[in-house]
Amino acid sequence: MSSTAQKLAPLTEQYSDQIIYGLDIGGTKIEIGVFTNELQLIDSWRKPTPTKSYSEFVKTIVDLINEANMRCKTKGIIGIGMPGIVDKNGLVTSVNVPCSTGKNIIADLQDILGCKLSIGNDCRLFALSESVGGAGDGFKRVYGAIIGTGAAGGLCLDQVLYKGSRGFAGEYGHLPVSAFLIDKYSLPLKKCACGLTGCYESYIAGPGLGWIYQHFGSKTADTFHFVKQLNACDDIAKSAFNCYMDLLGASFASLILSYDPDIIVVGGGVSKIEQVIESLPSYVNKHLFSGVECPPITKAKYGDSSGVRGAAILRKQLIES
Ligand SMILES: [Zn+2]
Repeated sequence: MSSTAQKLAPLTEQYSDQIIYGLDIGGTKIEIGVFTNELQLIDSWRKPTPTKSYSEFVKTIVDLINEANMRCKTKGIIGIGMPGIVDKNGLVTSVNVPCSTGKNIIADLQDILGCKLSIGNDCRLFALSESVGGAGDGFKRVYGAIIGTGAAGGLCLDQVLYKGSRGFAGEYGHLPVSAFLIDKYSLPLKKCACGLTGCYESYIAGPGLGWIYQHFGSKTADTFHFVKQLNACDDIAKSAFNCYMDLLGASFASLILSYDPDIIVVGGGVSKIEQVIESLPSYVNKHLFSGVECPPITKAKYGDSSGVRGAAILRKQLIES
């Protein structure tokens, strides 16, 4: 059990007939959160993600669910979030969990567990979590954007995730950086893990920030070092920050022009740098034409627990619809 879970309310009989399990599959760990029907988190724990063996991967998920059934003395309904795309037939494409690519994860898990379950992209589920009771609650059109090891998000309309035709709506990180910015900062064109070249993600995700810091002359790509130097008003850190924010602002301007949301909620490691969220609207506005204004941009309410929470909401909404 995680230290966070130990602080949570003990499982009591009032929860025992309406339990939801939200699983957040990452490239290094799989976390399960046990929720009440009112989305109160009552327990959570995690296991390492097997990324090379698909049978081990499936077994780990099944073990987590069986353990939850044992702890709760009942069977909960199941929602799962994972990196990559799961199409409507259940077929997976995932760079972070390569053993799952080409497999039908929904069919395989349902066969073993003997129940229906829902799976969605982890960044899209972050958006859903922040839209339902999170920092975007009360807004009609909520865009949730993760800036962490990658850059992706999703749009929610009236607290329901917009899934699109094939599940990739929200992949703003794989739009191309504008030629204007490449030229302005003399940026080399970087090859992206998605197979394309010059995607925003290569520059605006956490590793991209470290890379830009080096591009401006730092000897290290360490983002903690970057923040320390930025707070100390170091010239290299200030130049890197200005370039980084210009790129991030332009990428957000693209998603604003595409989706026109009422609010943007930002999560992921980079969102924890105060200066990024504070100055983002002014950098976004530099890339919007006259008459278009940047909507409010705010930090996520649920942060790292948005993954399990969003997965739980996905399944709860389907059951209730
Ligand atoms: Zn890409």
